[in-house]
Amino acid sequence: PLDTAIHDAVLGHATERFGETVALIDGTNASSRLTYAQLDAFHRRIAAGLAAAGLVKGDVLALHSPNTIAYPAVFHAATRAGATVTTVHPLATAEEFAKQLRDSSARWIVTVSPLLAVARRAAELVGGIEEVFVCDHAEGHASLLDMLTTTAPEPMVTVDPAEDVAALPYSSGTTGAPKGVMLTHRSMATNLEQLVPFVPLGEGHRILAVLPFFHIYGLTALMNAPLRLGATIVVLPRFDLAQFLAAIESHRINGLYVAPPIVLALAKHPVVDRYDLSSLEYIVSAAAPLDADLAAACSRRLGLPPVRQAYGMTELSPGTHVVPLAAENPPPGAVGTLLPSTEMRIVSLDDPTLDAPPGEPGEILIRGPQVMKGYLGRPDATAEMIDPDGWVHTGDVGRVDEAGWLFVVDRVKELIKYKGYQVAPAELEALLLGHEGVADAAVIGIQDPDGNEIPKAYVVRSAGAAVTAEDLMTWVAERVAPYKKVRAVEFIETVPRAVSGKILRRELRGRAVTGSP
Ligand code: ATP
Ligand code: MG
Repeated sequence: PLDTAIHDAVLGHATERFGETVALIDGTNASSRLTYAQLDAFHRRIAAGLAAAGLVKGDVLALHSPNTIAYPAVFHAATRAGATVTTVHPLATAEEFAKQLRDSSARWIVTVSPLLAVARRAAELVGGIEEVFVCDHAEGHASLLDMLTTTAPEPMVTVDPAEDVAALPYSSGTTGAPKGVMLTHRSMATNLEQLVPFVPLGEGHRILAVLPFFHIYGLTALMNAPLRLGATIVVLPRFDLAQFLAAIESHRINGLYVAPPIVLALAKHPVVDRYDLSSLEYIVSAAAPLDADLAAACSRRLGLPPVRQAYGMTELSPGTHVVPLAAENPPPGAVGTLLPSTEMRIVSLDDPTLDAPPGEPGEILIRGPQVMKGYLGRPDATAEMIDPDGWVHTGDVGRVDEAGWLFVVDRVKELIKYKGYQVAPAELEALLLGHEGVADAAVIGIQDPDGNEIPKAYVVRSAGAAVTAEDLMTWVAERVAPYKKVRAVEFIETVPRAVSGKILRRELRGRAVTGSP
C-alpha cells in the first residue's frame, strides 16, 4: 500500500515534476486555467487560510460544488489542513444537503456563489456550521480566493494514512439511502498507485472531466489519477452533449472517462458527426452496466479501439478491475482484470461460504488495501458489507473466464426470480437496446396476479418509431431461454437515471406499486 497522505500522493511533487504544465482548464472559459505550480501553491495557501480560520485536524468540511478548476485545490487544501472532505451533490436540495451535514457532523462548508443560498439554508437547518466559504468571487462573502494572499504559515498536521479519513463520499443510493463511506488516505492513495500502470495518463495528456468530482469515480479517475501523473484536465460543470463534443474538438482531448449514457450518445446521436473528434485515443466506461454491442457501435463510429470498462464501488476507493490499455482485444463485455494486491472470490448466491463453480456467476467478494474503513456511524451496515476476514460483499453478481476477465452480470438485489430461475435485468435491457425502435430501456421484477415475480420492461421509443409491446416481447423471446422472456412492457418518456447512468429502479418500482403511469 501507499502510506502517504492523499494530498502528497497527488500534489506532493507537482511543482518540481510538472511546474508550468497546465493542470486544469475551464472547459467553459479556456482562458481560465491553472498550472501545476499554481495548483500546488494555491492548495498550500488555502490550507494555511483554513487553519488560520480555525479548522483543526479531524474536522469535516463539506465541498458543495460542480466541477470547477478550483475543486482539486480546495479538496487537497482541506485534507492538508487535516480535514475529512465530504463531497456533496451540487444539485442537492437544502434538505438533502442538511441531512448529509448532520450525518457527517460537518463544521465547514465550501460552495460556489450560484449555490450559496442553498448552502446557507442547509447550514441554518442543522446549525453548528463554523463558516460557509465560496471558492469563487461573491460580493460581501468570505471567499477562499482571499486566502491566496495569506501569510499564515502552512499548517503542520501529521496524517496517519492508515487511520485518518481523507474523504467521506456518499454511495449513490441506488439500493437504499446513501451511506457515508470512510476512505482513509491510504486506501485512496493506494488505489491511485494500483490504477496507474494501466492508464495512459502522462504529462500533457488531455482528458475531459464531465463526470462529477463529488462521486468517487470522478474524484479518483478524473481528478486525482490525472493530477498525480501530470495530465491536463479540461473541466466541465455538467453534461451537455454539444458542449462536450465541442470541448473534445477544441481542446484536442486524448481520453474520455465516462458512464454508459455518454457511450450511448456517442454511438447513436446524429450530432456526433458534426465534430472533429480525431484527437481521441480511447474511451473508458464505468459505474453501470455497458452493453457490449453498444460499446462496439461507439468505437466503430469513432474509429477507436474497443471501449474499455472499469469496475468498482465507492466502498473500494473505488477501483478493483480495469481493462488495461495494453490489452489489444479484451473480450466484449469484460469489465477488466483484477488490479495488483487485490483479491477476489466469486461465491455461490445460495451459500456465500462456498466458491461458485469456475466460470459460473456468483457474488463478487473483494479484499485489498483499497477497502473502506467502514460506513460512518453504521456499524451494522459495515459488518454486513465487510466480513470478519476482510472480504467486501459487493452485492454484485459476476463471473470470471479462464483468462481472468471479470464480467458483471447485475446486482444480487436486482436479480428477478422467475419460478426459481435467476433473470438479470441488465441482460434484457441490453437486448432491448439492440432493437432499432428502442431509445432506452429498464427492466424490473413485478408481481403478476398469481404472485410470481416476472420481468417487466419500461421502454422509451426512438423518435418516430411505432414499435409495440408485442414486437418487443417477441424480439427478446427469440433471443433468450424461455424463462428469461420479458412478460410485460410499458412505454415511458424517460428512464430515471442517476448522473452516473445508474437506473433508478426504485422509482420504477414506486410507479409499478402505485399504478401511476
Ligand atoms: P448504493 O450502494 O448507495 O446503493 P451504488 O452501489 O450505486 O449505490 P456506487 O458506489 O456509486 O453506489 O456504485 C457502485 C456500483 O456500481 C457497483 O456495486 C456496481 O453495481 C456498479 N458498477 C460499477 N462499475 C460497473 C461496471 N463496469 N459494470 C456494471 N456495474 C458497475
Ligand atoms: Mg453500492
